[in-house]
Amino acid sequence: AYILWQGQIMKEATAQASLFDRGYQFGDGIYEMVRLYDGQFFALQKHLERLNKSAEKLDMTLPYTSAELTHLLYQLIQKDHADNGNVYVQVTRGTSTRDHLYSRTETPILSAYLLPQKDHRQAHTSGIAAYVTEDIRWLRCDIKSLNLLGNVMAKRQAADHQCTEAIFHRDGMITEGASTNIFLVNNGTLYTHPANNFILDGITRQEVIDIAEERHINVVQEPFPKEVLAHADEAFLTGTTIEIMPIHSFTGDVQVTLPIGPITKRIQEAFTARIGITTTN
Ligand code: PMP
Repeated sequence: AYILWQGQIMKEATAQASLFDRGYQFGDGIYEMVRLYDGQFFALQKHLERLNKSAEKLDMTLPYTSAELTHLLYQLIQKDHADNGNVYVQVTRGTSTRDHLYSRTETPILSAYLLPQKDHRQAHTSGIAAYVTEDIRWLRCDIKSLNLLGNVMAKRQAADHQCTEAIFHRDGMITEGASTNIFLVNNGTLYTHPANNFILDGITRQEVIDIAEERHINVVQEPFPKEVLAHADEAFLTGTTIEIMPIHSFTGDVQVTLPIGPITKRIQEAFTARIGITTTN
């Protein structure tokens, strides 16, 4: 496998990061995960815009323009002979002697490499179990930061309860999943948390809102209390790697079993059509 490392595409084993990289020392960096379908990146420009926004919010400067990065990422997958998968892009603030204070003179370091796509076909049909738990993360979840401890801890907690994803609530309101956004369906209307500092505004979330508007399905972007989950007609997750994933049950702070309903299926079909291919996994 190849890696894009400081502007060069090289064999993975050749790339060597410094122990003094601020990403390693402080989690001082950002990332993106972009899906590759049949040799084409899906919504790459939106991902690059979000990467730029994350950088701006953290007072970081990206080492390449979006056009340069697009070119480099296509070079990378060509070198890898890859048609499908996910490309992980990470940018750290750079290296410095360990000091909380950054100086703005650090040189940001970008790396990117391909990760295989897991087969989700079974779960796309039968749904997954979700574990509802308190959101203990910081107040800038809109930044796609490398600091993912709250997410990492919740994911483990979910797995220990035989669940695939953790669903967060903050002050009693549902925010998002540990690595996904969540939508509810009630009486044919979609409900999801607004894109503010409490969630990451997922690219897949944006696609679903777009699809719903196109199909005259009403979308309400307002926080809803966790108790509402227990009365939902349907619920699903969205994310680059899981696409549209039905939820068949909630455990933890909310306990209920749900059917996999018609609206979720319609959104799944519309999303697959948008990708422009007929089979996904
Ligand atoms: N929320 C969080 C916390 C995430 O980590 C992710 C995936 N990176 C998402 C939502 C979904 O975002 P996207 O649809 O852009 O993959």
